[in-house]
Amino acid sequence: MLKLYNTLGRQKVFLKPLKDKLVRMYSCGPTVYDYAHLGHFRAYVFVDTLKRVLKYNKYKVKHVMNITDVGHLTSDADTGEDKMEKGAKREGKTVWEIAEFYTKDFFDAMEKLNVERANIICKATDHIKEMVDMVQKIIDNGYAYVISDGIYFDTSKLKDYGKLAGFNPEELKAGARVEFNEEKKNPTDFALWKFTAKDQKRQMEWQNEFFFKAEQIDLSKILAYANDNPNIKIEKSGKRFKLIVKGFPGWHIECSAMSIKYLGKVFDIHTGGIDHIPVHHTNEIAQSEAALKKESVKIWMHNEFVLVDNQKMSKSLQNFYTMHDILAKGFDPLALRYLFLTAHYRSKLNFTWDSLKAAENAYKSLKEKIASLDLNKKGKSQKIKEYKKKFLEFINDDLNTPQALSLLWQMLKDDELSDKEKYELALDFDKVFGLKLKEAKVEIPKEIVELAEERLKARKEKNWKKADQLREEIKKKGYSIEDTDDGYKIFKL
Ligand code: AMP
Ligand code: ZN
Repeated sequence: MLKLYNTLGRQKVFLKPLKDKLVRMYSCGPTVYDYAHLGHFRAYVFVDTLKRVLKYNKYKVKHVMNITDVGHLTSDADTGEDKMEKGAKREGKTVWEIAEFYTKDFFDAMEKLNVERANIICKATDHIKEMVDMVQKIIDNGYAYVISDGIYFDTSKLKDYGKLAGFNPEELKAGARVEFNEEKKNPTDFALWKFTAKDQKRQMEWQNEFFFKAEQIDLSKILAYANDNPNIKIEKSGKRFKLIVKGFPGWHIECSAMSIKYLGKVFDIHTGGIDHIPVHHTNEIAQSEAALKKESVKIWMHNEFVLVDNQKMSKSLQNFYTMHDILAKGFDPLALRYLFLTAHYRSKLNFTWDSLKAAENAYKSLKEKIASLDLNKKGKSQKIKEYKKKFLEFINDDLNTPQALSLLWQMLKDDELSDKEKYELALDFDKVFGLKLKEAKVEIPKEIVELAEERLKARKEKNWKKADQLREEIKKKGYSIEDTDDGYKIFKL
């Protein structure tokens, strides 16, 4: 049985998929306004490991990941510039070009890290209609109100708002968490839809209509907003009022709308980094529950941060490294994957180049060890079962990859297993690690290859004595040679 840590409830729970052996999961994807950094990579290697563990347990996985290409403001609250518009200004390009460029760069990095693509990758800007429909549902259910810069969610209407983060709305009223916008009813209220400000020039904006009952709005106030801002209009529509606005979605609504569209109203797992707990995911829960009137996600999983000098690696602190930095320093991206696996996803990981170097050395010797296994050495050890059982225990205990990785090393050093058994187990474990161990090759020094070639020539000339001498010489240098039909194979001793 697979146990996963559910942030909602703060405990490990057994995974019980809603539908047989199918696990439906959603991951918050990147905001594509700049290069992704090692912190993002950790988040998606964690997701990839989770998927691999699910598949190792014979579950089918339906995985959806979004691409945020609109609406994420520079503060996770509803203030500041739209990150995408800011990125476009910085580079003198259109927001669409920025989105395309950084999305491609992100997936290039993912491929280098051997992260499998989600079954469905969905862009926020392709789902404006779904988001508008969901906001309308939230309005109809009585959870929304209008202020001068947008349609907001009234968090006081939900009795357990903040349950994911474990905070109490009363404490928040003191205003500790977010800058308080005087017009909002509660400090935790957040934007469902933002209106383009009167003097704002946005590349990404849409004209949409939202319908309100008379008692849901303060008509005189809205008329005043409309008077001040040409992007806001209001008119009577049957028994209701129609608000016609130019604007864009709030950041959180995209994930609620797209997860429900592709995975159904209730699904199994939702992932993201821990920074998403207090705002983004807390608000996603509020929206989905207000629209659906029931709980939408069963298990919420969050990865801890990558740190630099004990501070979160982030764009805003300018302390980040990208895949381009990793490659420029000559590192194998899979060494980074190895580094991530050495720490549990729920513990902080302080990044240094020395730690990456150490991970690369360990990864190299792991590959050497595997490549030098002699597959002709077969056997039937009872211990295979034991190792498999332990491995499953570790990964099924909330993805304990550090322990699973040390089990791999322990197994490779175990003399009771034959080389063939070790090889097969290593490749089996690698279904979870994703370290491409199958491709491991020993790098044989030129000098050894030359001796081997000389020996091959001697053998062809039936000079067995010389061939034996050369075999000894190769052995003294730390390699063994084995004859095959088409020549020879060299192993590291
Ligand atoms: P963003 O593009 O900022 O929305 O982030 C994409 C994902 O990466 C989110 O799940 C974040 O929580 C996660 N993330 C961002 N920075 C870090 C970090 N330093 N360490 C780990 N995860 C991070
Ligand atoms: Zn999200």
